[in-house]
Amino acid sequence: MLIVIEGIDGSGKSTIVRFLVEELRKRGYDVVSFKEPTDSEWGRRVRREDLSPEEELELFLKDREWNVKNNVVPSLKSGKIVIMDRYYHSTIAYQGAKGIDVDYIRKLNEKFPKPDLVIVLDVNPETALKRIERKRKPSKFEDVEYLRKVRDIYLSMDDVVIVNAERPIEAVKGEVLDLVLRHISKGLHS
Ligand code: ADP
Repeated sequence: MLIVIEGIDGSGKSTIVRFLVEELRKRGYDVVSFKEPTDSEWGRRVRREDLSPEEELELFLKDREWNVKNNVVPSLKSGKIVIMDRYYHSTIAYQGAKGIDVDYIRKLNEKFPKPDLVIVLDVNPETALKRIERKRKPSKFEDVEYLRKVRDIYLSMDDVVIVNAERPIEAVKGEVLDLVLRHISKGLHS
């Protein structure tokens, strides 16, 4: 089973992924998590270099190819539940918000394993940036106008579940865990 946690920067993804891994392990599930972009050569370049949207798209795809081949597929084959902090919905939203056609980006990602459940943690970009600024200086992707476009693309997707992540973290954790546990038990009985 492949479960993906999506959302703009500062929406709470890494907090929720850590929480899910812990809760699922407590319940006896064999679970691993991966984060994109990874620390591969391509993932590192995408963070470091000043790139055109097309170059960025290409590097994200190369990084994903590496991650899927080396991490995601082997884990799924060995029967683990895989939880991802970002996957191809991020590419659709972030590179789409830079003007690349969203259907075209989606098509380029069809060769990768399709997630069983995609949860988008939805927050206002202002809230998200405030959370980030408490800890560090925002990165090149963390601009309020840009994140507004990214958020709108996430909200237009019809293959995701939207969770209101503006609420206190405990409420978000509760709803996400509930969604995931229900999905797992549905999977086991089908
Ligand atoms: P992301 O991985 O999506 O960038 P993080 O999980 O790193 O987001 O969260 C960014 C910051 O916001 C962290 O300091 C985290 O503790 C805080 N945070 C996450 N979710 C909430 C929430 N629902 N309410 C308040 N603060 C939150």
